[in-house]
Amino acid sequence: MILILSSNTNQQSADYQQLIAYLTGLSNIDMRVHVERGAEQVLTEIYLIGNTKALDIKDMKSLPCVERVVRVSEEYRILGQHKDDSRPTYFDYNGVRFGQDTLNVFAGLCAVDNAEHVEIMLKALRDNGQICTRMGAYKPRTSPYAFQGHGKNCLPFVFDLAGKYGIKVIAMEITHESHLNEIRAALQQTGNPTGVMLQIGTRNTQNFELLKIVGRQQEFPVLLKRGFGITLDESLNAAEYLASEGNRNVVFGLRGMKTNMGDPHRNLVDFAHVPVVKRLTRMPVCIDPSHSVGTRSAAPDGILDLMHITAQGVMAGANMVLVDFHPVPLKALVDGPQALLLKELPHFLEDVQIARDAYLKRVALAQRFAQ
Ligand code: PEP
Ligand code: MN
Repeated sequence: MILILSSNTNQQSADYQQLIAYLTGLSNIDMRVHVERGAEQVLTEIYLIGNTKALDIKDMKSLPCVERVVRVSEEYRILGQHKDDSRPTYFDYNGVRFGQDTLNVFAGLCAVDNAEHVEIMLKALRDNGQICTRMGAYKPRTSPYAFQGHGKNCLPFVFDLAGKYGIKVIAMEITHESHLNEIRAALQQTGNPTGVMLQIGTRNTQNFELLKIVGRQQEFPVLLKRGFGITLDESLNAAEYLASEGNRNVVFGLRGMKTNMGDPHRNLVDFAHVPVVKRLTRMPVCIDPSHSVGTRSAAPDGILDLMHITAQGVMAGANMVLVDFHPVPLKALVDGPQALLLKELPHFLEDVQIARDAYLKRVALAQRFAQ
């Protein structure tokens, strides 16, 4: 059960103290207080865990400071979408909104190779009205002999250049706690010219200790990729780990499933789960067509599979698109064969917009027929 308190509730107030004293006295109930500091208000939620079936919603609602009460099912307590749940399905970060009704494109390099390519990429994004990007600094690779990413060495120039080209959020995978500290330090050193969305890759979806560490900070939002060989439920529980530790600014990423049933694509595209995740949880949903499809093959209609599949995800209501581009894919150190070319960026963005407009029309149509 979640008690949502009136906004800006003061934890020093007599009412709040009275509430806490009452809750502490309940037998077989533990509580966890979560405070969310937004730009305009401070929201406090109290999670009650244990034998909450014995609690009456009306009684709980009549307690001091309590504005709303949500009875949650066992599943995805914090990030889940529960009955009569009016908690938000969005969050704001560094001036950008991430919600179940917004769409942000994160085009960029799979892996940072050099400053020149980063600058060419970011300039192209700026010139095409983009404020988000992807830039891999820490790369989890199958072979220990493959390029592992430039790590902390590339962070200062990536952040500086992002600031120069007006990039507000960079999606960047981390695989270890030390990477979080390195990102924090480099942002500080460069004067916080941009923001970072920490990415947990598909190989780490169930790295529970990493999830707990990333969940304990609220400075950076998190893009959690679905595990490529586990059930959707298992991946959604992984997202819940982040929230249960305190960070609920989580985007859930679909990136295809590992099976040869998807051949000749790199993975079996799973964007049919976009509406499922939006129904089960309050998370915005990201699609990654690059790691799903993995090639630049085109259909006889002249449209790349990558673009077809992006359109499918966006038309199903996706809220974020993570996609690999590279100025010279032949020179890319990671995933060159699946990278789109910079001259394809305006084409890609316009195609995404067509799919987005179609999605919005479909929503309006559904609303009309529901009346
Ligand atoms: C990536 O986005 O760079 C990546 C490695 O993705 P995934 O974890 O989905 O394979
Ligand atoms: Mn990649």
